[in-house]
Amino acid sequence: MTRKTTDQRFIDLCREAANGWSTCNREAVGAVVAHGSEIVKPGWNGAPSGQPHCENAGCIMDNGHCIRAIHAEDNALWYAGRDACVGATLYVSHFPCWRCAQLIARAKIARVVYENKYRVDERARKLLYSVCSLEQFIDGKARPEMILEEVFPRSDADLANLGVEYWAAHLDDDSLTNESTAQSGK
Ligand SMILES: [Zn+2]
Ligand SMILES: [Zn+2]
Repeated sequence: MTRKTTDQRFIDLCREAANGWSTCNREAVGAVVAHGSEIVKPGWNGAPSGQPHCENAGCIMDNGHCIRAIHAEDNALWYAGRDACVGATLYVSHFPCWRCAQLIARAKIARVVYENKYRVDERARKLLYSVCSLEQFIDGKARPEMILEEVFPRSDADLANLGVEYWAAHLDDDSLTNESTAQSGK
């Protein structure tokens, strides 16, 4: 059995943090701050310590989002602390929201590796793309995110297709084609 890569181990850890610790009923999200192969802190989404949690008190919904839970990225960055975040990698199970993208930018995280394209906010995507290396973990590998400003099609389906073309051309890996085109628009 081959040893897992560092990226794989941390993405797995995000999933474990999400499934084992998240207290939000809507979506379980996990994140990890790491330096190279060294873990700094994990985080998951849940209400502030000492406050009622979604699983007992119910989510507080606002515009389709639960606002009772603090997001996993926010918690991981907070637990890691300001100094440890500079130049670190943030692994996260779901694509970061706009506010978390801002926190990631402020923390000077060097690399973001996410797994699920969940409710991708294009503003967050562009912000992250401009401040760090933005990568999606697919098929056991972290792959750089593409943003083509001029020819930017506005739907998720088009974006996924663009990604496939880019990857096929640059990474020489056609195994992505089927999976990524299966993702359709919102
Ligand atoms: Zn919730
Ligand atoms: Zn967030």
